Amino acid sequence: MPTISPTRPDVSAPPSSTAAVRAFGVSKVYGTGPAAVAALDDVTVGVTAATFVAVMGPSGSGKSTLLHCLAGLDSVSGGSVEIAGTDLSTLSDRQLTHLRRDRIGFVFQSFNLVPTLTAEENMTLPALLAGRKVDPAWMAEVVGRVGLADRLEHKPSELSGGQQQRVAVARALLARPDVTFADEPTGNLDSRSGSEVLGFLRRAVDTLGQTVVMVTHDPVAAGYADRALFLADGHLVDEMLEPTAASVLDRMKRFGD
Ligand code: ADP
Ligand code: MG
Repeated sequence: MPTISPTRPDVSAPPSSTAAVRAFGVSKVYGTGPAAVAALDDVTVGVTAATFVAVMGPSGSGKSTLLHCLAGLDSVSGGSVEIAGTDLSTLSDRQLTHLRRDRIGFVFQSFNLVPTLTAEENMTLPALLAGRKVDPAWMAEVVGRVGLADRLEHKPSELSGGQQQRVAVARALLARPDVTFADEPTGNLDSRSGSEVLGFLRRAVDTLGQTVVMVTHDPVAAGYADRALFLADGHLVDEMLEPTAASVLDRMKRFGD
């Protein structure tokens, strides 16, 4: 078996042993008849474990749809998706719910924190609901990396937007998911807060070995990733290794977006 470096292109066929996510010929059609919209068409892609991948593309190109299909939040119309070697189509609804709960992290544009709970309580809530113990060593590690050790007792309203989103990322990471999906995680943040969140995502990959797939339309955000994928009209049209804000901006200009 060849050794795969974390940033090697693996669009076509990443071996399952090193892939956190694989999608094969995924299509997604919304609606039926003349109103049908093909949001994704024959997308094959793999995400190597412990890497940070950005999904870019013009508005309406299918980024969120791809993320939802990869995360098992939405069903595919064709093709298949694997999370850490498990084919989602083989799972019952109940098994899929458990896989989403136990093996996948989510971060949304709106932080989705519970306003009446402290930062720490928000982080540990999913484990509580799942009846799962939080590993104290891992909790300490994540809290240390998130840089919020002195804010754990604060409510969301007492935290900046960037701090709230870092709590949301820490909450996602506490379950040690196989992969964390983030849809425009910096979309509601100013650039300084955005860079706090992106820096934490980067450290989660580099120092905690986490796998992150992030949808963004911001070239600066994509510059934090190991790899950028480009979608257009539901097709995967390009990829870039070690993207920079400048190189991504340049590529995006060719979409006329
Ligand atoms: P992006 O995140 O890149 O902006 P989306 O994945 O949200 O794009 O959408 C891709 C296409 O699918 C768009 O044409 C959008 O209008 C359509 N679409 C997305 N979600 C739905 C839905 N629930 N019902 C119908 N059409 C949808
Ligand atoms: Mg979207």
